[in-house]
Amino acid sequence: MSNQETITSLSAADLSAKLKAKELSAVEVTTAFLDRIDSVDPTYGAFLAVDREKAIAEAEKAQSLLDSGDAGPLTGVPVAIKDNISTTGIETTCASKILKGYVPPFDATVVSMLKAQGAVILGKTNLDEFAMGSSTETSAYKLTRNPWDTTRTPGGSSGGSAAAVAGNLAPLSLGSDTGGSIRLPASLCGIVGFKPTYGRCSRYGLIAFGSSLDQIGPFGKNVEDAAILAAATTGHDAMDSTSIQSPGIDLSGLKEGSLKGMKLALPVEMFGDSGDPKVAALIQDALDRLRAAGATVTEVSIEEIKYGVTTYYIIAPAEASSNLARFDGIRYGARQESKGHIGLVEKTRGEGFGHEVKARIMIGTYALSAGYYDAFYTKAQQVRAHMREKFLQTFQEFDFVVSPTSPVTAFKLGEFDADPLAMKLLDYCTIPANMIGAPAISLNVGYSDGLPVGLQLMGAPMADEALLAAAYAVEREFADVQHTPQLL
Ligand code: GLN
Repeated sequence: MSNQETITSLSAADLSAKLKAKELSAVEVTTAFLDRIDSVDPTYGAFLAVDREKAIAEAEKAQSLLDSGDAGPLTGVPVAIKDNISTTGIETTCASKILKGYVPPFDATVVSMLKAQGAVILGKTNLDEFAMGSSTETSAYKLTRNPWDTTRTPGGSSGGSAAAVAGNLAPLSLGSDTGGSIRLPASLCGIVGFKPTYGRCSRYGLIAFGSSLDQIGPFGKNVEDAAILAAATTGHDAMDSTSIQSPGIDLSGLKEGSLKGMKLALPVEMFGDSGDPKVAALIQDALDRLRAAGATVTEVSIEEIKYGVTTYYIIAPAEASSNLARFDGIRYGARQESKGHIGLVEKTRGEGFGHEVKARIMIGTYALSAGYYDAFYTKAQQVRAHMREKFLQTFQEFDFVVSPTSPVTAFKLGEFDADPLAMKLLDYCTIPANMIGAPAISLNVGYSDGLPVGLQLMGAPMADEALLAAAYAVEREFADVQHTPQLL
């Protein structure tokens, strides 16, 4: 194994230990990842932008923190950032033509928190345009390929962030999750993806999609890495009015979770006969294994789950239609000159937005229009309230809700081109956590035909620490099944 291969295959926790022990320097680590991106990202397509000079300069700064003994768990550790999270001086496009050339004049809170701790921002990762999609294929710029099989998608919408970690292009990355966009690609790429409780991680600087659902969260090769990045990026932020008054995620009990006596609820609605029967069988085996390790898994029914996808596809587009109104060619990004104000806005939006984004804006605008507001938007919010109530009741009786993350493994690029609605159904198990603001995590528990299968654990709102500890305990139980893809 070359030095570059060794460095890029290490976990963030191991990299940090080696940096602190002076076995590796921060510049050496960052250079190893940058070189690997140069050589293999033309195939994987995980990154939209990489600023080599900036990254090296940040690594040099990190080295002085390491030298002065003033280093935290992420000092000198590279992190890739989804391209809907604002970064000063680096173009932030949301994978949309409408933001081509937009360079934010400020950092998202998560980015400034990372910089303050000496983490190195490696670059910006590909996504579905404005995070709308489940395969990263709606990006206006490029396709991202799954490192387990480059003819398949990494999932989405944070596909670039997931592929970067799975493909050893970054030890850690940040994504965003509105209806499953961290957990689905984590599942399809065989890594860990965590969506914190709504409000625990600041959304300041995250370009809004569905503001009541959006949440930034980490990807890592394992639960510990994801937890380290979660701890580094959470906590109250006065710049986000929905930020919860609570400290950042506390990792002190991370390794103390146990499966003995853990009470898991399995909603029958999340484990039906739709989807790939091989995935269902593998999840069934995984649950048996958890039972053998001392957990109880009890079937429950939460009927509102059945309405999750339809409700989400009213609320999320409604919020998107209002959030995306700001892209008018006057204040941000690309502008298409035309006659008069309306002409300019029409031309800019007509040419700047892709097909999926336009569809969502139209659906959302329709659902919010005076004659239909009550029939669609109000009703959807009522279903959402019922769903939350039912889940909260479930969490009084059970520690966590367990389910598959996705009903299928990584699918072929283009597989859903003819049936976009079918792709939307893949979010069936992930949407409820966004609807109720709860934390949820996906981790790998096995392989079906050589492709990874993720298990999702969902906790009560604010139970992020307990959820991470539970996931850590589950991961330990499945240590024997974990392996890495045959990488380029
Ligand atoms: N796939 C879902 C959608 O297309 C979720 C996206 C997300 O979580 N950002 O809206």
